[in-house]
Amino acid sequence: MHYGTNTIRQSDFDRNMAETQRKFKERGYKNDQINIAIEKIQNKTRHGLFQGQSRKKKYSCVLTTCYSKCSEQIKGIVHKHWHILKSDDSLSNFSDLPLVVFSRGRNLRDQLVNSDLPPQDIPERLFAPLLDGNYKCNGCAQCNGTYKCTSFKHPQTGKQIPIKGVITCSTKAVIYLITCPCGKNYVGKTKRELKVRISEHRSTIRCKNFTYPVAAHFLEANHWISSLRYIGIEHVTLPRRGGDLDNLLLKREAAWIFNLKTLAPFGLNIDFDLKPFL
Ligand SMILES: [Zn+2]
Ligand SMILES: [Zn+2]
Repeated sequence: MHYGTNTIRQSDFDRNMAETQRKFKERGYKNDQINIAIEKIQNKTRHGLFQGQSRKKKYSCVLTTCYSKCSEQIKGIVHKHWHILKSDDSLSNFSDLPLVVFSRGRNLRDQLVNSDLPPQDIPERLFAPLLDGNYKCNGCAQCNGTYKCTSFKHPQTGKQIPIKGVITCSTKAVIYLITCPCGKNYVGKTKRELKVRISEHRSTIRCKNFTYPVAAHFLEANHWISSLRYIGIEHVTLPRRGGDLDNLLLKREAAWIFNLKTLAPFGLNIDFDLKPFL
């Protein structure tokens, strides 16, 4: 190691070198190995070591792929036929050979463990209540039709049924339950925000639209629009592997209509769709 004329620093280097040499010997390194290493570093300058090492070759593009037993072959094929590939017009920007790098492939753990836990929606959870239940959003025109609850009574048996998920008027993908003053119930589903769907129900009553079962009953029974009560009973979420949300909503809606026995004449549902189960 060259320090110029600074003899004090040279002696520091020698002392540390001897100490390091001793430690390597203690660990079982042979003298030859240690001497080769010392020779290598003695030819380097202190100034040179502080300068960042530059890469031997700069690559204009990097081809990243998952590592597999074919990875080396792929790399060989790309390199061998690069002159053909780069003649393609769309690859004209990449004249140099690409640097082929590998990311970790799927290991046994990835293949065997398949958790269906829904992803945690952190921002929404941060401000939302933690307990599963139905809550007012405290800021919409539909808030006055709903109330805070973590369970609800089965319309026929009176048994308490827990609400699945944290639901407010602003939650999307919800199965909801509408109750009228004479105690009849309607199960519905929506992919949009619950408040949007509820406002549609109210507007069909306001417009005296008898084609919709909820509106038809409210009009025939002379119920006030303001007496409509609703709660979200399940927040429907897709499993992590994905799926068809529309289909899942239809399935859950049919299951709730069946379980809560809300089909006419006991409830306000006219029918339910069995197609998603076929
Ligand atoms: Zn609201
Ligand atoms: Zn009624």
